[in-house]
Amino acid sequence: MSTIYGPVPSWRLGKSLGFDLITKDKVCSFDCVYCQLGCTKEKSVKRAIFVDTELVKLDLSEALDALEEGDVDFITFSGMGESTLASNLDEAIEVVRAITDLPITILTNASLLHLKEVQITLSKLDKVITKLDAPNSELLRKINKPHASISIDDILNGLKGFRRAYAGEFELQMMFINENKGCAEDLARIAAAIKPERVDINTPLRPCSVEPLSREQINRIKNINETPQFDFN
Ligand code: SF4
Repeated sequence: MSTIYGPVPSWRLGKSLGFDLITKDKVCSFDCVYCQLGCTKEKSVKRAIFVDTELVKLDLSEALDALEEGDVDFITFSGMGESTLASNLDEAIEVVRAITDLPITILTNASLLHLKEVQITLSKLDKVITKLDAPNSELLRKINKPHASISIDDILNGLKGFRRAYAGEFELQMMFINENKGCAEDLARIAAAIKPERVDINTPLRPCSVEPLSREQINRIKNINETPQFDFN
């Protein structure tokens, strides 16, 4: 099984070549109710090697050889779960840097971002895209169904601490569904304290087990997030 997929068109990243360091049935520290990958088969916070770094090297070289210049805008670590669970993520980033000068990003649920080693690894990326759907532990448990050892305080401290030290582009995604639509102001206040370059407000539009919010509901939430008092860029 290849560790590479795409390039896939992304409105945010252009043509994104995906890197999956998990490549087996979903392994994640969360089991979000809206996850398009289905239920988490292995809920874990244990960092491990799922694919050999040599395979990463081989797959990327082959993929780039088969592509033309301009076919890829970003290399994106994402895939079948939470990429920061891969303990060879740091090595994989080094491998990508040695092969190409394309910018590199990651989609992460921020559950391990309070760990120093994860912060050091992610600081080597050009862009970090994190997520936050819940302002408190009750909603975190309802929406993201995290591993029992994960706390909302660790997530928020990880986001704030990493953001303060990180020199690259930092984005925050929020997925809104019925459960958290009433706490958009709380989330906007938290986001203002984290100070990301950008906040993306989403609702699940791909097939999953929960209903998306209406366009009107999403627009109302976007207006809250754009209120000047929250100091968004
Ligand atoms: S963090 Fe991402 S991969 Fe993990 S369950 Fe949530 S949506 Fe799915």
